[in-house]
Amino acid sequence: MNVNRENIITIQKELSNLIGCPGREEEVTDYLLLKLEQLDVDKAWIDPLGNVLAIKEGSDPNGLRILLDAHVDEVGFMITHISDDGFIYITPLGGVDKRLMLSTLLQFQNEDRERTIGVVSSTPPHFTKPDEREKVPDITEMFVDIGCKTKEEVIERKLDIGSVGTFYIECIQLNEDILLGKAFDDRTGCNIILQVLESLKGEKIPNTLLINFAVQEEVGLRGAKAAAYTLEPNIALAIENTSANDVPNVSIPKVSTKIGEGPAITTADRSLIVPKTIIDRIKKAAEIDDIKWQYKKSVTGGTDAGSISLTRSGIPSGVVAVPCRYIHASAGLLNVEDIENAIKLVVNFCKI
Ligand SMILES: [Zn+2]
Repeated sequence: MNVNRENIITIQKELSNLIGCPGREEEVTDYLLLKLEQLDVDKAWIDPLGNVLAIKEGSDPNGLRILLDAHVDEVGFMITHISDDGFIYITPLGGVDKRLMLSTLLQFQNEDRERTIGVVSSTPPHFTKPDEREKVPDITEMFVDIGCKTKEEVIERKLDIGSVGTFYIECIQLNEDILLGKAFDDRTGCNIILQVLESLKGEKIPNTLLINFAVQEEVGLRGAKAAAYTLEPNIALAIENTSANDVPNVSIPKVSTKIGEGPAITTADRSLIVPKTIIDRIKKAAEIDDIKWQYKKSVTGGTDAGSISLTRSGIPSGVVAVPCRYIHASAGLLNVEDIENAIKLVVNFCKI
């Protein structure tokens, strides 16, 4: 099976540069709905929560109904206060490490999808006591400077309490294999689903494919729950981005996944224990084309698979994830070859 690396990189960059904070994912869902129009699905629509759902009917009426899920949201921030002198206070949407925040650039999005860039700061070090300098303030204590002198100037930009923003970086290619950018968790999964549909274009497979581009994963696996109820799958696969910690000072037993070693198969995380039947099906899919894969070793994090598995009378669900370093930070780093292998793996998973 051939994959188109150039197209994978182009879509990865486009998806990474979009803004889709939890509950405010429209820029990403609009993009995906447009892409689906060219991908030979039988039906595509947006549900009341904002999930993008699609169905590609199979040729066998007794075939499986397989759900492929990837979440569209990324960790972000919501404005909680604007000071009279134009500084913006925020709260995180999703898990963000406060140590990674100071001096990063954020971009806020207004209702017209215009962007405003600012820098995160706190009391300058020259004006703090030595013991204060050792501590990292909470994110809610930090402020964002967007260069406005007054609250009115901020409001003029159509930013208000409840407006959202995310890290500011344009996705860049560092070398033949490596991309650096934001929101790879989980625009990578969205890209993989688009590529899987592209490679199945014009082809009828026995199983019916159900697609969910899910909203609000980062704040509690929310969108997937409603979508799984609607789509009524027999089995499900969450296609994710997972933490790679193949970096200095991590001892080998503690390395969960490594970049460049293939997509990671989850056996368990904090949201589910993956049924043996699903793990075996994923491994069988890999075996067909001798696709490189690895286990996700740490039992950490939660995914939409956990939420989907508890829908209706229970849905056996698994996770395939592309390893990414510095997940949930201002810039993540991944290997394109892992995306290519994930696409091949998911295509086989759907066909068998
Ligand atoms: Zn994720």
